[in-house]
Amino acid sequence: MLSAPQIIYSPTEIKNLSSRFKNENKIIGFVPTMGCLHEGHLSLMREAKKQCDIVIVSIFVNPMQFGPNEDFASYPRTLERDVSLCQSVGVDVVFAPLKTELYPQGFNSKILGGPIAELYCGKSRPGFFDGILTVVNILFQIVQPHKAFFGEKDFQQLFLVKQMVRDLWMSVDVIGLPIVREADGLAMSSRNTYLTSEQRKHATSLYRAILSVQKQVNGGETSISKLQQTAHAILEATPDFVIDYIVFVGFDSFLPMTQELDQPARLLLAGYLGNQPRIRLIDNILIN
Ligand code: AMP
Repeated sequence: MLSAPQIIYSPTEIKNLSSRFKNENKIIGFVPTMGCLHEGHLSLMREAKKQCDIVIVSIFVNPMQFGPNEDFASYPRTLERDVSLCQSVGVDVVFAPLKTELYPQGFNSKILGGPIAELYCGKSRPGFFDGILTVVNILFQIVQPHKAFFGEKDFQQLFLVKQMVRDLWMSVDVIGLPIVREADGLAMSSRNTYLTSEQRKHATSLYRAILSVQKQVNGGETSISKLQQTAHAILEATPDFVIDYIVFVGFDSFLPMTQELDQPARLLLAGYLGNQPRIRLIDNILIN
């Protein structure tokens, strides 16, 4: 039985602990999360454990990345269960700060993700990525990790975190890891807990769309609009599903591709299932 992680609420305490680890020449791995942990999160922690001496996981539902009509208040908070899951994969420290510790009175600063942060998920969720980048930066400053582990599930987020680290010369190695899926292909997500059993059946349509596009690409199709139509048809036929976007982005530019599949691309999909609550689902796949 692995020993229980140390739970720390105070940013100053984590900062001091991290300095101590660094003085002992320990490599610190960091996995930022919003909790309600699942296998997707645990895969990041396991990899961090492999690559690092100390693994620190943060659990913080970041108010700055939620819009006024989004699910900040109802986002699942399951700290006790999360801590035991962290223990099961050998996490050393769980950092669970209070909102008022990360955003005290008078807090005013923000990181802006620029043009790419306004596209795709950023278009339907204004300020979303600026909120994420700001909290990731705060967490990096506190935890001072050598390596930080993010999931490809949130592919635009991963791109923007890498962009921030590069642009601002942050001393952290950002590592992206593959999407972990349920047996039927649904990408794991804390928000899947909102799905009714009926909606859960329909939620696989994103993955089915991905598989169909992949098959068509394997068969030689290169027209972006035809490939988009394939995904569109599957999502449109899904009861209760509202499409947000279906886009192919260039690997380096992250800009939309409109003509031919003439370079490695990522297909990004997003939409909503249901109403009250409207459950946001995203997925993506490498196409090459
Ligand atoms: P969240 O708690 O949703 O903010 O996610 C925390 C981290 O876990 C992010 O880097 C996510 O991309 C990653 N993550 C969430 N779901 C998955 C998944 N199904 N597979 C891999 N990584 C994931």
